[in-house]
Parts: sequence; C-alpha cells; structure tokens
Amino acid sequence: MNADHSAVEPEDRHLAVTHTVTNQPPALENYNLFSQDKALQEGLILRDAAWAQQELVEFGELTGRAETIDLGFKANENKPVFNTHDRYGHRIDEVEFHPAYHELMRISMAHGLHSSPWTNPGAGTHVARAAKYYLQSQVEAAHGCPITMTFAAIPSIRKQPELAALWESRILNNSYDPRNVPDSEKQSVTIGMAMTEKQGGSDVRANSTRAYPLGQGGPGQTYELVGHKWFVSAPMCDAFLVLAHAPGGLSCFLMPRWRPDGSKNPWQIQRLKNKMGNVANASSEAELRGALAWMVGEEGRGVPTIIEMVSMTRFDCMIGSSGGMRQAAAQALHHCRHRSAFGATLNDQPLMQNVLADLALESEAALAMTLRVAHALDNQSDEHERLLTRLATPVGKYWICKRSPNHAYESMECIGGSGVMENCIMPRLFRESPVNAIWEGSGNVQCLDTLRALQKSPDTLQAFFAELDRARGADARYDRFVSDLKDEFGNPEDIQFRARNLVDRLALSLQASVLLQHSTTAVADAFCASRLQSQGGLNIGNLPRGVDARAIIDRATPVVD
Ligand SMILES: Cc1cc2nc3c(=O)[nH]c(=O)nc-3n(C[C@H](O)[C@H](O)[C@H](O)COP(=O)(O)OP(=O)(O)OC[C@H]3O[C@@H](n4cnc5c(N)ncnc54)[C@H](O)[C@@H]3O)c2cc1C
Repeated sequence: MNADHSAVEPEDRHLAVTHTVTNQPPALENYNLFSQDKALQEGLILRDAAWAQQELVEFGELTGRAETIDLGFKANENKPVFNTHDRYGHRIDEVEFHPAYHELMRISMAHGLHSSPWTNPGAGTHVARAAKYYLQSQVEAAHGCPITMTFAAIPSIRKQPELAALWESRILNNSYDPRNVPDSEKQSVTIGMAMTEKQGGSDVRANSTRAYPLGQGGPGQTYELVGHKWFVSAPMCDAFLVLAHAPGGLSCFLMPRWRPDGSKNPWQIQRLKNKMGNVANASSEAELRGALAWMVGEEGRGVPTIIEMVSMTRFDCMIGSSGGMRQAAAQALHHCRHRSAFGATLNDQPLMQNVLADLALESEAALAMTLRVAHALDNQSDEHERLLTRLATPVGKYWICKRSPNHAYESMECIGGSGVMENCIMPRLFRESPVNAIWEGSGNVQCLDTLRALQKSPDTLQAFFAELDRARGADARYDRFVSDLKDEFGNPEDIQFRARNLVDRLALSLQASVLLQHSTTAVADAFCASRLQSQGGLNIGNLPRGVDARAIIDRATPVVD
C-alpha cells in the first residue's frame, strides 16, 4: 500500500521537532581576551608596559578567535606519538605532534614569548611578555612548557659566554623550526631541561648520571654523559640543560640532540609519559649513552647554574596558573551571565554572586602578584626589586599554582554538567591545574626555598616587608594581618613545620598590598574581608556580607553576546 504523504498536515509534521534550544550561552569565542580583561589592561599601564598596548590588543584578538581556540582542543585531543625507529630500522627518537601543536608553537615564538625580554630589554618588557604568555596559556597551556624552557635557558647559558655566542641568537630567533635535524641546519632552536631522575627529583643532588671529560675538562669543555633521566619534557627540543656528576661534583651541561658531525647524539627516549594533564606536551623518560655535552658554568656548581633557569620557569608557572584561573573564571562568569535557573539569571542570584565574585577575586589577585614580580624582573638593577624577586618568586609560585586546582573545579561547577564535558575547555583546565604546582619545585620545595632565601639573606624578608609597608594604612585588617605576620618571623622555632602557613600569609599579604594600592575599592575590600580575617568557611563562595560582589563580577565578566 502506498503511503499518501500529502495527507499529512504541516502541523502534524511539526510533531517531529522535539524542542528548540534555549537558555544556553553563546560560545565564548571571537572576542578579545585582552580588551575584555580590565585587570590586565590596568596592570600593563601600571607596570610600565603601556607601550605594548596595541600589540596586546592584536594578540588578544588572535587568542580569542574561534580558530585559535580550536587549536588548543586539537592539540590535546591528538596526543603526541613517539617513534623509536624509522621504517628502515634507523633509530630516530622522533615525537610526532598534531599540526595544531606546531601552530601554537609557531604563534608563541612569532610573538616572542620565548625571547622578548632578552632581545629588547627595557621598561615593561617582562610585563608585556607575561601579559602575552597569560593570554596564550588561556588558549593552550601545555605547549608553554618548551616555550618557557627556551626562554628560561638564557640566564643559565650566559654563564658560559662562548656557548652563549654559539646558541643565543638561534634561541632568540622568533621563527619555529620543528624539524628533527642537526641544530647546525637551523636558524631557530628550542631548549629543554633534564634534571629529574628516578631516585630523586626535588633532591637533584641524588643524580646518578655521570659526566666523563673528553679532554682536559672544565667550563665550556666537552664531556660524555652516561645515565638516565626520569622526566624530560619536550624531548624534540634541539638541546637540553642537563645535570650530571663530573669528577669535581654535580655540574650543568648543554646537550644537543645531534652531534656536530651530523650523527645522532646517543641519548635515547625510552617512552613517553602517560600524563593526566598537559597532554599536548610530550614528556619522556630517557637514557644517556655517552651523549656529547658541554659544561656550562663552573664544575661542581651545577645547581647554582641551572637554578637561574629554574627561577625563570617558576615565574612562568605563576603566569601560566594565573592565565588558567582567568580562563576558568571567564568561562564561569560568561556562562552565568547567560544562564537562568529558577526564574533568574544565575549571576543575579546572591549565592552564585558570592561564588563568582570569589573566583574573580582569586584570579585578579593571582594576576596582580604575577605582574608585580614581572615588574621586579624588569628592574633588577634596583636593590629592592632584586631582593623582592628572590622571595616573591617561590612565594608566588607556591601560592598561585596551589590555588589553581580548586579554582578550576569550582569554575567547572558554575557551568554545571556541561562543564564536565570534553568539548568544554574546563576538563582541560582542571587536568592542567595541578601540574604547575608539582614541577619546577613542588609546594614544599618552594616553602623550603623561601626559608632558605630569608635565612641566607635576611635582607629579602626586610625588602618583602618594605614592599608590604607601601599599602600600610589603607585597610585596618591588612595592617593587623601584616603586623601579626611580622611577629611570626620573630620566632624561629619549628619554622620548617610552620613554613606553609608562613608562605600562605606572605602570599596573601603581597596580593592584598597590590590590590589595595592599585585595584578597585570593591576588589581590595572583598579580598581583605575574605582572605585576611577568618569567617569560619573554607570553600569558594565565603565572601562575607557587605562586599560589593556585583561590582567585582561586572569588572571581570567578558561581554560576549
Ligand atoms: C608533567 C611533568 C613534566 C616534567 N618535566 C620535567 C622536565 O622536563 N625536566 C625535569 O628535570 N623534570 C621534569 N619533571 C619532574 C618534576 O620536576 C619533579 O617531578 C618534581 O621536581 C618533584 O620531584 P619528584 O617527582 O622526584 O618528587 P620528590 O622529590 O620525591 O618529592 C615528593 C614530594 O615530597 C616533597 N618534598 C621533597 N623534599 C621535601 C622536604 N625536604 N621536606 C618536605 N617535603 C619535601 C615534594 O614537595 C613533593 O611533594 C616533570 C614532572 C611532571 C609532572
């Protein structure tokens, strides 16, 4: 029997339409990450980087484009793949990345995220670079690892001027060359770092890798390295700073992937790490089988030599985690601006306002502290700034990175069930969030480094408190908090046991001081009210009555309709 379709009335056909989609936010894309970030724009001007404003407007537009945001998803959905050998059986140690990863690397390098403060030192250059890095890490954080290591290698490599002369201009070149070929064939190179071994990561003095001199030995001379490394991220870098024991003690070496004669340097990747986050970045385990390397800095002074690199990577962890928090807060604020429940927009409902304002506060405080340290890096000839950098870097690295995972999780919860889905950026931000806290010196190591700094050079603590004095008198809660903290440092008893508490309070004081001096009254007041005096509650969303949550939310919300 033939069905008579003409007999179906149009109204009946509509029965096949199950529903229309309503009450969903527009995608948070095709917006300007810089122009929609008031705290960042103000920070740029405040910290002597107003000259970079136009560059940042352009970079903000690029990092907010849907196509750029998509690169972050593609690079993470397609994990790097490790090939030991080519089809003919030659050892190649090659990691294959998705083209999106290469494009992210290209963008970062083209914009000097690995180079600009070294190529154009001057007022505001660390600040301007930090601002760009903060925007780019909101798109994708994992590729920031080789970008950071390449950037951070410069102060260590400069310890050996003849090696710096060979490598520096290629490290600072703004093009990106991912080819697996000898560095002599490249205009532009990337640098990694290999310290951690199976028996010890924090305690690198436990390294078992040995360095055998090929000639007389000593700074700038050649050695062969034999041993293993348990974590080597971005193993496609062109060279690595490596710690190994020379006859005169633990030393730092520059180890290229290829030998000058064009043969492969015998350090072999064993496998890639199977990571919970940071997956667009390859991290590997490797064996060094007589790998040729050049000593950097003095023999036996490997830790002080490589620590120059490590302190810059720690600073980048502050930027990266601040960027992660900004992106998480932006996602939550955007969603709740468009989503209604129980008859009202979420961001108009008091309980959600408390949560959103708290997330925004945490994010702005992280950025404020990061830009304060960037400003200090820009002014190292000033003794106060130099001493502040020494203490504020481990304090900031510890605090900002540690605040990040819970912030990511709470931002995810603001979005509800859709925030848990893999086509939302939140799962990626969440999985990325613990990484910065663990590498480059885990939390306790940062606290111990803070104690080491103030014990070795009490001037650092004086400088820190002198910095805090700049906001004295602006808020009674702040004055009390800082005064109590000063008293705590008067008592050295059990100081290691108390170190986390002391570092927490140093961090909160520094954040409060910057916000009191430079942010809005609403932000500074809510920060002091919620962070400098106990309300009894510990979760996000514990702002006390009387704070201007609406003003904090409006300041932080990206307006995308
Ligand atoms: C994704 C990823 C990529 C990495 N990439 C690299 C890389 O490229 N190059 C590289 O060299 N390393 C890399 N690492 C290694 C990383 O730096 C180490 O994991 C880190 O330094 C901690 O070392 P560990 O794992 O040996 O832990 P441990 O040193 O065993 O530390 C374990 C815990 O003990 C704490 N602790 C240590 N000493 C003390 C103490 N005295 N008092 C109190 N607490 C203490 C630490 O804070 C930590 O919480 C990477 C790690 C990760 C997760």
